[in-house]
Amino acid sequence: MTEVLYLTDSSTRRFEATVERVAGDRVVLDRTCFYPAGGGQPADAGTLTADGTEWAVTDVAKKDTIYHMLDDDPPEPGTAVVGELDWDRRHAHMRYHTAQHLLSGLLLDEFAAQTTGNQVYADRARLDCDYDRFDDGDLATIEDGLNELVDDELPVRWYEMDRETAEAELDTDRTRIDLLPDSITELRIVEIGGVGPAGACDRADAAADPYDRTACAGTHVESTGDIGTVTVTGRETRGSDGERVRFELA
Ligand SMILES: [Zn+2]
Repeated sequence: MTEVLYLTDSSTRRFEATVERVAGDRVVLDRTCFYPAGGGQPADAGTLTADGTEWAVTDVAKKDTIYHMLDDDPPEPGTAVVGELDWDRRHAHMRYHTAQHLLSGLLLDEFAAQTTGNQVYADRARLDCDYDRFDDGDLATIEDGLNELVDDELPVRWYEMDRETAEAELDTDRTRIDLLPDSITELRIVEIGGVGPAGACDRADAAADPYDRTACAGTHVESTGDIGTVTVTGRETRGSDGERVRFELA
């Protein structure tokens, strides 16, 4: 069972691990910082090295466990390796992903618009929501609101919560727990704002009244101040009653 390091520590970019299993051009490690594609966040890229040999990690996917796709014949099981993330790419994903949480929260608060999908990249992001149509004034409201939340340098924290508690306590507009498979009994909660620590913490340190709280297994920055300046770059109609909003960070 792979120890998933990025769930508690999103800032580590280099780690030591042992190859547990090889399947074709893919390896399973005993521990990893590599994020697999999921939840609208792309997979990490980077390298594995062992005894002077370097492999490029070309893709990372989660199935029964986390598989690292390599560019060449993989190292044997039992090999000690050093993993290193392409940090510029990962850090961009963390900034965009955290901005997406702020956008989802703002759209609910200001427009009663529920997020239906999202995709972040290292240089842009888009979010789909249930809304008729945003006009230019709405887009300005969204952009100004996001930049205020960035300027507020709100702490971002994450912790584990059992599913039963989550079903009782989480806002169902923000997290569709009913859509999660039954096999998920522990949820990883990400909350932004309110009085409390930043980064990984215990549930006891949860804020009484955070700006946003949702279940998410992605990676995030520890302060909204790390997101940077948000520019809403456009909108388009998606389906019969959906809107897509695009944004970029600088
Ligand atoms: Zn997230």
